[in-house]
Amino acid sequence: MPIVEAERKGSPVGPPAFKSRKDKRQAVRFTANARWKITEKGRLLLPKIGALRVLWSRTLPSTPATVTVIKDSAGRYFASFVIETDPDTDAQHWPVGEVAGREVGLDMGLTHFAVLDNGEKVTSPRFLRRAEKKLKKLQREHSRKQKGSKNKEKSRLRLARQHAKVADARHAFHHQLSSKLIREHQAVHAETLNVKGLARGKLAKSIHDAGWSSFLDMLSYKAKRYGRDFQRTGRRFPSSQRCSNPACHHIDGPKPLNIRTWACPACGTIHDRDTNAARNTLQEGQRMRAMVAEGRAETENACGAPVRPGTQSRHSAMKQEATESHTSRAA
Ligand SMILES: [Zn+2]
Repeated sequence: MPIVEAERKGSPVGPPAFKSRKDKRQAVRFTANARWKITEKGRLLLPKIGALRVLWSRTLPSTPATVTVIKDSAGRYFASFVIETDPDTDAQHWPVGEVAGREVGLDMGLTHFAVLDNGEKVTSPRFLRRAEKKLKKLQREHSRKQKGSKNKEKSRLRLARQHAKVADARHAFHHQLSSKLIREHQAVHAETLNVKGLARGKLAKSIHDAGWSSFLDMLSYKAKRYGRDFQRTGRRFPSSQRCSNPACHHIDGPKPLNIRTWACPACGTIHDRDTNAARNTLQEGQRMRAMVAEGRAETENACGAPVRPGTQSRHSAMKQEATESHTSRAA
């Protein structure tokens, strides 16, 4: 939640000592022992700092145990709270009974952010594309400014702010899409991308920009929280090479990225490349899920580490850190 301004009675004190982080963000954490609190007026009262005005981006469902104050690279301050979530409340929120039997397969790609097995293609929303366009413009302007000049410094700050806006917009888009997919389905199947392998090549920038791994992480923790299944299919599974016709499953070999549709030489089905891959991912995910249910295979937990079926209770309380990211001016 963005912090707008600070007010404090008594003698002035310096800003809090931030611990430096690798990602250029700085953060300081206050635990329950630090005796911080949220005042009746909705201000954040921090020891030695005073009462801070906060732009609350959502109401807190319960009393948080800790608060972390973060300063990002664009000079904006945020307050992030750790909240205990209640599994029963979550289960009521999005009842799993309403989506029984509904499953979806996802193909993550470069032409579209994701393609669903029903043929639906998800591109990034207009607010994100607009922010990215403005970022490119500012990057061009920045590169033209003279080194060491005041204008260069001004444009650097503008650029940093726009970078942060793009990151926020992307984060919001990932949240919207992952929530929708989890809410509407009992099981979500996605391919585990060989992101590292791909990122070494020309596609590096697109992959970095698409932020697939943060999106997949969201699917994973939301599935766990709302009693859904999230299944990642293996990297070695040839989702884009196999004919998704369940009666055929002919493997046709690799295809260059510019081949968007192809006809299966075995059964004659015409395939849209991405939809076919999403259908294969769904089928493979269902196969893996059945194996897990029978206790013949391992599934993944929220962190992506393998867990034996049955060892993890979906209804155990879990902690979730809600880092708010809304644009505001620096405190
Ligand atoms: Zn076929």
